[in-house]
Amino acid sequence: MIQIMMPLNMLGSVYRDIRQALIDMGDMFDLLGQPPEVQDKPGAPDLVVSGGHVVLQDVHFGYDAERPILKGIDLDVPPGQTVAIVGSSGSGKSTIGRLLFRFYDVGDGALLIDGQNLRDVTQSSLHAQIGVVPQDAVLFNDTIHYNIAYGRPDASEDEIIAAAKAAKIHDFVMRLPEGYQTTVGERGLKLSGGEKQRVGIARTLLKNPPILLLDEATSALDTDTEMEIQAELKAMGEGRTVITIAHRLSTIADADRIIVLEDGLIVEEGRHQALLAENGRYAHLWNRQSEDEVA
Ligand code: ATP
Repeated sequence: MIQIMMPLNMLGSVYRDIRQALIDMGDMFDLLGQPPEVQDKPGAPDLVVSGGHVVLQDVHFGYDAERPILKGIDLDVPPGQTVAIVGSSGSGKSTIGRLLFRFYDVGDGALLIDGQNLRDVTQSSLHAQIGVVPQDAVLFNDTIHYNIAYGRPDASEDEIIAAAKAAKIHDFVMRLPEGYQTTVGERGLKLSGGEKQRVGIARTLLKNPPILLLDEATSALDTDTEMEIQAELKAMGEGRTVITIAHRLSTIADADRIIVLEDGLIVEEGRHQALLAENGRYAHLWNRQSEDEVA
């Protein structure tokens, strides 16, 4: 029995780590199966996305009953808009991402996409419509080709190359002796943070989802690479609904809307300049971060 329990426990903790980190959620979800606490309703229909209108209605949530994390979040993200979620560490930003991907069901309130409650639709159809670009893209120990094609396994060679070009990784790949057949990951060629992220972007471009969830990079990329990646993420967001979970502020100044989360509630909302002018919580976070960056 113990022999059986050990690997199960390990799998449980690996699973929790992955869920916690929000790392490449879609892919890991496929690999590790559904979390036990969230099940499809019998006969649940697929989510049908027309525009990608994301709505949170008075969302309450806690990982355990004693400690509420989200205490009534109302958020309306019209199709094609970019909303950035900011707030101090532990304020609940990533939790909103986890709920959007339905790692957990909301306590009270509802999360809707194009009018459909996420509780009522199949999880597989939800995951097919949301592209997650995590802070640290997880690569499989396999070829670059495989790693990009994972976004849509039936993609043609031309489509994979087009995605790689759009993610600005194609020229790099072509300089490798084995090109797209180069094995990467732990047992293969180690890619830099920026290269990994580009493979992740190519994978998501190939998947072509109407909704993007960006868990913004906190990993150390040099400034040039980071600016390039930001430009690529921005281009990828064109025509899609984008929710950016921003752990730093420097990259979200041109979001259509910024919401500031504090202790599970939205305390401010608006565009960058307007929020700075308000001289409230956002301005405080911004000034503090600017000081940290100078320091
Ligand atoms: P950061 O910017 O530091 O990543 P965040 O705003 O994204 O923070 P969340 O990850 O959403 O914060 O976490 C919000 C709160 O929920 C934190 O207090 C955290 O400790 C708690 N929390 C997160 N995951 C779990 C979990 N699996 N079980 C219990 N509590 C959790």
